[in-house]
Amino acid sequence: MSTQLWVATTNAGKLTEFKNLMSDRCEIHAAGEMSFYSSPPETGKTFEDNARIKARALKSLKPGIWVVADDSGLEVEGLGGLPGIHSARYAGDKASDRENVAKLLKMLQIRSPGNRKAQFRCVFVAYDPDGGEHKIEGLVTGQIASSAQGTSGFGYDPIFIPEGHDKTFAQLGLAVKNQFSHRAKAIRELMALMRL
Ligand code: IMP
Repeated sequence: MSTQLWVATTNAGKLTEFKNLMSDRCEIHAAGEMSFYSSPPETGKTFEDNARIKARALKSLKPGIWVVADDSGLEVEGLGGLPGIHSARYAGDKASDRENVAKLLKMLQIRSPGNRKAQFRCVFVAYDPDGGEHKIEGLVTGQIASSAQGTSGFGYDPIFIPEGHDKTFAQLGLAVKNQFSHRAKAIRELMALMRL
């Protein structure tokens, strides 16, 4: 039987990226496949805190196998690092990706139209089958576009132009994003850790 990895997420966009990069080497499952699963409240102050909360909760349901949680977000220099850990809920608790993007463009226009530097950061907390904890970080730098462009991906992909490119992640598509995104870098480290 091939190695299993359970991912503590209900975010379809994140899961697609894990599957795209890993499913030829291991069996990927999402916590959301368990009908009774509900994500624990993300009460931490950092990506690492929140990743650990999610990974621990899943480890208690799936002991003895690899589990990983990804906590991630967009950090915008002109907004003092926001939305950061609040990325998923920047425009409100039930906000859609489109509403979050609209709020970010509006805030940047008000606060810092001249500085559009930003980075995506993700932190993984993983537990190996023996219960050992591992932390992995991934980063990609870039700029915030003046308007949303492109249809691929999720979250803030339509407004993030990675360094060295002139199109957003949503325009570049998943195959390009998965070459160098924050999550792709962290997933490659995770694969090395799992000896895949
Ligand atoms: P989390 O599920 O609490 O880690 O929140 C992650 C949020 O950060 C997502 O809902 C997106 O809004 C944003 N985000 C993280 N990674 C990406 C990405 O690769 N592309 C676009 N948005 C992302």
